[in-house]
Amino acid sequence: MNRLYIANGENPVKMTIDLLNVMKPMENRSKDISIGIKPNLVCASPADEGATTHPEIIEGIIVYLQELGYTNLRIIEGSWIGDSTKRAFKICGYEALSEKYGVPLYDLKDDTSVTRSYKGVDINICSIALDVDVLINVPLIKGHCQTNITCALKNLKGLIPDSEKRRFHTLGLHKPIAYLNALIHQHLIIADGICPDPYFEEGGRPKKLNRIVACYDPVLMDSYAAQVLGYQISEIKYIQLAQKEGVGSPMDKETEHIYIYEDKPETISGIQQKNKKYLKIVDEADACSACFSNLASALEKLSEEGLTETFADQICIGQAYRGYKGVLGVGDCTECFKKHLPGCPPDIHSIVEFLKTIGGGD
Ligand code: SF4
Repeated sequence: MNRLYIANGENPVKMTIDLLNVMKPMENRSKDISIGIKPNLVCASPADEGATTHPEIIEGIIVYLQELGYTNLRIIEGSWIGDSTKRAFKICGYEALSEKYGVPLYDLKDDTSVTRSYKGVDINICSIALDVDVLINVPLIKGHCQTNITCALKNLKGLIPDSEKRRFHTLGLHKPIAYLNALIHQHLIIADGICPDPYFEEGGRPKKLNRIVACYDPVLMDSYAAQVLGYQISEIKYIQLAQKEGVGSPMDKETEHIYIYEDKPETISGIQQKNKKYLKIVDEADACSACFSNLASALEKLSEEGLTETFADQICIGQAYRGYKGVLGVGDCTECFKKHLPGCPPDIHSIVEFLKTIGGGD
C-alpha cells in the first residue's frame, strides 16, 4: 500500500477517473454500501482561489462510482468557524453537482454528534461521518498558517462540530488531529493539487501545479504534501503524531510514485513558500484557524505596505487569552485587553482597519 498515484494534466474529471481506473479501490466491495465523499470546503471561495476542492474531482469520483453501480453516495462537509457550509456548497459549485448527479449534500454544522474516546480523550464527531461505510477524503495539498500544511489528516476536522473545532485548538491542535484520525478510518484519499494556495488555508494566492494525487494512507499523503510545500515531516507535528498512533506511514525509499500518464520525473516538483516574518509580531495561544488565518492575511497586506514594522506591541489572539488583561488583542477572546478588535472571528478587512489605527497608518 506504500504507493502514491499521480496524475498531471489539465482535465480534473478525466484525471480523477483515470486514477480510479488504475487503483480500482472498490474491488470486492458490495454495491449496497454508503459512501461519504469529504471535500475541503473550508470557506465559500471558488476552487480557482486555491482554498477549496475542485468540484470536477468530486464529479470524477461520482461518475466512476455511479458507473460501477454505487447509488448511496453523499457529500459531507462542515466549513470552518465563521463561514457557512451552505454558502460554500453554492459558491464552490457543489449545489449544481448535487443536482446533476442526484448526490445529496450534508452540512455537518446541522448534524448531531457522537462522542468517541481515544486514549482517554473524548472527541465529538458528527454522526453522519460515522454512519458511512466508506469515507473518501478529498483534501487539498495546501499551506496552513498554524500547522504549515494541511492535507488528508487535518481535513477530517471538517467532520466535527464547530464547538469541537474550537476545543481542538485549546488541546494543542496537533494531538487531537492525530487522535481524530485514529478514530475515523479514511478508505481512500484523492488530493487536489491543481492550484493550491501554499501559504494560507483560505486561499487567494493559488499556484498552478496541475496535479491530482491518490493513495490509501493519510500519513503517506501528508508526507508527500509536506515535501511539495517545502517542509520536512519533522516540521509538521501532527503527521509524526498520527504515525505514532498507527494511522499510517510516511514516504520512504520503498514508496512507489506511479505517474499514470508519464514516466517518473527525477524529483517531486513543489512550491517555494514565502517567508512569513510578519507573523513574529503575533502571540497566538489556542486560536481557531479562521481567526488566526484572517489575522495572518491582514498582516500580509499590512506588511506589503511596510506597516507591520511600526507595531510596538505584540498582537495577542486565541482562546487562552479569555479573561486575561493584556494590551493589544484580536477577536472576542481578548475582550479584556486594553485595545481589542471584537469578532468571532473578525474578518480580514476589519483587522486591517483596526491595526492601521493602532499601528499609526492612515
Ligand atoms: S475570537 Fe476566540 S473563539 Fe472566536 S474564532 Fe477567535 S480564537 Fe476562536
